[in-house]
Amino acid sequence: MFQLSEEIKGAGSIGISGHIRPDGDCVGSCMALYLYLKKCTGPETEVSVYLEQPADIFAQIADISEIKQPDAATMPPDVFFALDCESSRLGKAERLFDGAGRRINIDHHISNSGCGTVNVIDPTASSTSELVYRLLDKDRIDTEIAKALYIGIIHDTGVFQYSNTSPETLRIAADLVSHGFDFSGLIQETFYEKTYVQNQIMGRALLESILFLHGRGIVSVVDRKVMDFYNAAPQDLDGIASLLKNTRGVECAIFMYETDAMVYKVSMRSSDRVDVAQIASYFGGGGHKKAAGCTMTGTFHDVVNNLSLHIERQLEEA
Ligand code: AMP
Ligand code: MN
Ligand code: MN
Repeated sequence: MFQLSEEIKGAGSIGISGHIRPDGDCVGSCMALYLYLKKCTGPETEVSVYLEQPADIFAQIADISEIKQPDAATMPPDVFFALDCESSRLGKAERLFDGAGRRINIDHHISNSGCGTVNVIDPTASSTSELVYRLLDKDRIDTEIAKALYIGIIHDTGVFQYSNTSPETLRIAADLVSHGFDFSGLIQETFYEKTYVQNQIMGRALLESILFLHGRGIVSVVDRKVMDFYNAAPQDLDGIASLLKNTRGVECAIFMYETDAMVYKVSMRSSDRVDVAQIASYFGGGGHKKAAGCTMTGTFHDVVNNLSLHIERQLEEA
């Protein structure tokens, strides 16, 4: 049985990090654990959180300005937490994880087999934030910690809509809300609200989307020219894949954007009949059954053809 207080006992330094291009669950779980450990350890323990610059919407999370760049650390810490990913997706923080005395991996991705000396991997959990909640002493959760966990949960469940939402998720959310923050505003400002430019790109991606496999698949792409035109960052594209999946009749949606010439970051969203984690893993990525991603090279048509073969095979088998 994993006991957080036992795992960090005697540590002079603790590091926390999550995946590259951090999403709400990644930022929420890392910041919640950071706030909690700062509060629950003494002056002899230095706690640090390392992440790529989170999107502006997460500015509401307490002490978010204390996030450090991995380059800032000279020595790996005694204990390192990798959240919401396996170590290969930690980016620059990977070397700190690899060098740490005790490596703890907390994640809910089905594709993660555990890369720590201690692993808390549960693919049935809605989010890493839900897993972090389970590990904390409930009496020591305060409003700021609750807010960070709540943000993580709403982002990974699409505000309690996706099928990863369980009765347990809702009970946890109820407990978090009892801390008395403005949850309604938090949902609006961090999940639904988009900038004008984000909405424009989203509209364009929908407008230019293409159906395939007789309407059971849909794909849209944003190339570098468009990214440059709108001066868009990858974070500006969040939510487009899910929106494409909302098309009636579609069992699998593919959204991709060009990161380099002929290199695409691919996001997939699916219904019960397609396991996109399996497809993404085949192409070197990973994720969940109904939401996964990978990076692929080739022309747009190469990428779509390769993915479409796998989707079609799964639909035939279903
Ligand atoms: P995304 O499409 O980027 O929103 O990702 C959907 C889900 O798949 C998220 O849970 C990601 O963490 C996961 N995921 C995306 N890309 C990768 C990758 N290259 N490797 C492993 N997991 C990924
Ligand atoms: Mn994530
Ligand atoms: Mn997650």
